[in-house]
Amino acid sequence: MTDLRPDERVYWDHVVAPEIPLRPLPEQTDVAVIGAGYTGLATALHLARAGRQVTVLEAGAVGAGCSSRNGGMVGPSFHKLGVAGLTARYGPDKTLDIMGEGLRALEYFQSFVAEEGLDCDLQMRGRFRGARTRADYEATARECDWLSRHLDLPCDMIPKAEQHREIGSDTYYGGVVYHRDGGVHPRKLLLALAQKAQAAGVTIHETCPLTALRWDGDRATLATPRGPVRAGEVVMATNAYADAATRAMHRRVVQIRTAAVATEPLSAEMMRALTPKGRMLGESGRLFMWYRPSPDGQRFIFGGRLGRPGGPADTQRRAFAAAVTRVFPQLSDVEFSHVWSGNVAYTPDHSPHLGQQDGVWLAGGYCGSGVTRSLYFGMKLARKILGQPGADTAFDALGFPTVPCKPLSGLGARLLTRWYGHLDARDLRRDRA
Ligand SMILES: Cc1cc2nc3c(=O)[nH]c(=O)nc-3n(C[C@H](O)[C@H](O)[C@H](O)COP(=O)(O)OP(=O)(O)OC[C@H]3O[C@@H](n4cnc5c(N)ncnc54)[C@H](O)[C@@H]3O)c2cc1C
Repeated sequence: MTDLRPDERVYWDHVVAPEIPLRPLPEQTDVAVIGAGYTGLATALHLARAGRQVTVLEAGAVGAGCSSRNGGMVGPSFHKLGVAGLTARYGPDKTLDIMGEGLRALEYFQSFVAEEGLDCDLQMRGRFRGARTRADYEATARECDWLSRHLDLPCDMIPKAEQHREIGSDTYYGGVVYHRDGGVHPRKLLLALAQKAQAAGVTIHETCPLTALRWDGDRATLATPRGPVRAGEVVMATNAYADAATRAMHRRVVQIRTAAVATEPLSAEMMRALTPKGRMLGESGRLFMWYRPSPDGQRFIFGGRLGRPGGPADTQRRAFAAAVTRVFPQLSDVEFSHVWSGNVAYTPDHSPHLGQQDGVWLAGGYCGSGVTRSLYFGMKLARKILGQPGADTAFDALGFPTVPCKPLSGLGARLLTRWYGHLDARDLRRDRA
């Protein structure tokens, strides 16, 4: 069981993880996977089904990292740079390929959940993203037009006068509805994946961190507090929880703390008033808030880089109270029953990545949008390891660059967050002038 305070456990309420028996570590394994989140478990599952002996080492409990703490929003998660940023950097053809990969990931995710019968409350009710400024509305309209024309993506611009159909708020200048988005219960998805992996023969070793890695020829020796394991291949699926022992991943991602809160249960009328169609929700801006009805539809969950994530719960509560009231003044008296935080992994080029680097296999750097992508990347990474066809992705040619001046990246990220806050405030002031 991950060591969480009671007020952190919204996804633990009524969802009990089956006990994973404590087993001795094998001396040898075909593949050692480090990290039992979505990425590690998805990769392990596909490798085991192809006949490989797979051993998963997890520092804490299954899902101790992001995979039990996220917002559970699924969708194409296109790219942080957007169409304009991608085109400026890579040109129109690569842009189309990368954006198309987001849709392929979503299609894979939905069919995988359906075919495997994963019990994870997947509901594809779409997502409304509010525009905080007129300029944001116009930029979103241009992108929506591109997505419709080039990817046939169903998305609709909603003018301010009509936004009450989508959200119980007047705060935005209208927004966009992405019809292919939806949500899952993040922890149920994780536990279902862990169960499938074990059924395929994967052994998961909780509270068993990798502490050091050494290569002798083509075999790796992995040190753990429970003794060594020798492996032919090593997958580091530690993403934003990478540490010195998983250096290949650690040096490629910037770990950014982010926070979330859940309200007390709200009445059915209030839930309908806030999100008449049960949509996932969010807003434009460099520092934005995402929000959604909880998977059981009884409360609201809000998240974002607000209020010193990981700091005192009361500081987070106050920061979220202000942000939530900005959007939903009708929730000004609401109490937050759950407050938690987690790390997301950003990359210098704003792209997720997968492939082989420094002798090990990596998939991660999802830049805060890894629920859909991690299951897809796990499958693709397994195919790469197995040398199977269908392993290619639009991200392969981008490599997986290391973070320049990694020891200073945490400080850099905090300064950048402040700068983004300043730029957002400036844009809002200009918009209202
Ligand atoms: C608050 C929050 C909200 C989010 N909301 C969304 C969302 O709505 N939609 C979306 O798409 N994405 C969201 N994300 C991002 C998403 O959760 C992640 O991209 C995804 O869970 C990454 O999964 P993973 O398996 O790669 O990493 P993780 O789930 O973080 O797993 C990494 C694992 O590695 C383990 N580990 C680390 N070091 C070692 C070691 N030395 N030995 C053994 N094990 C080790 C850790 O304990 C951890 O369990 C959110 C993230 C946060 C924090």
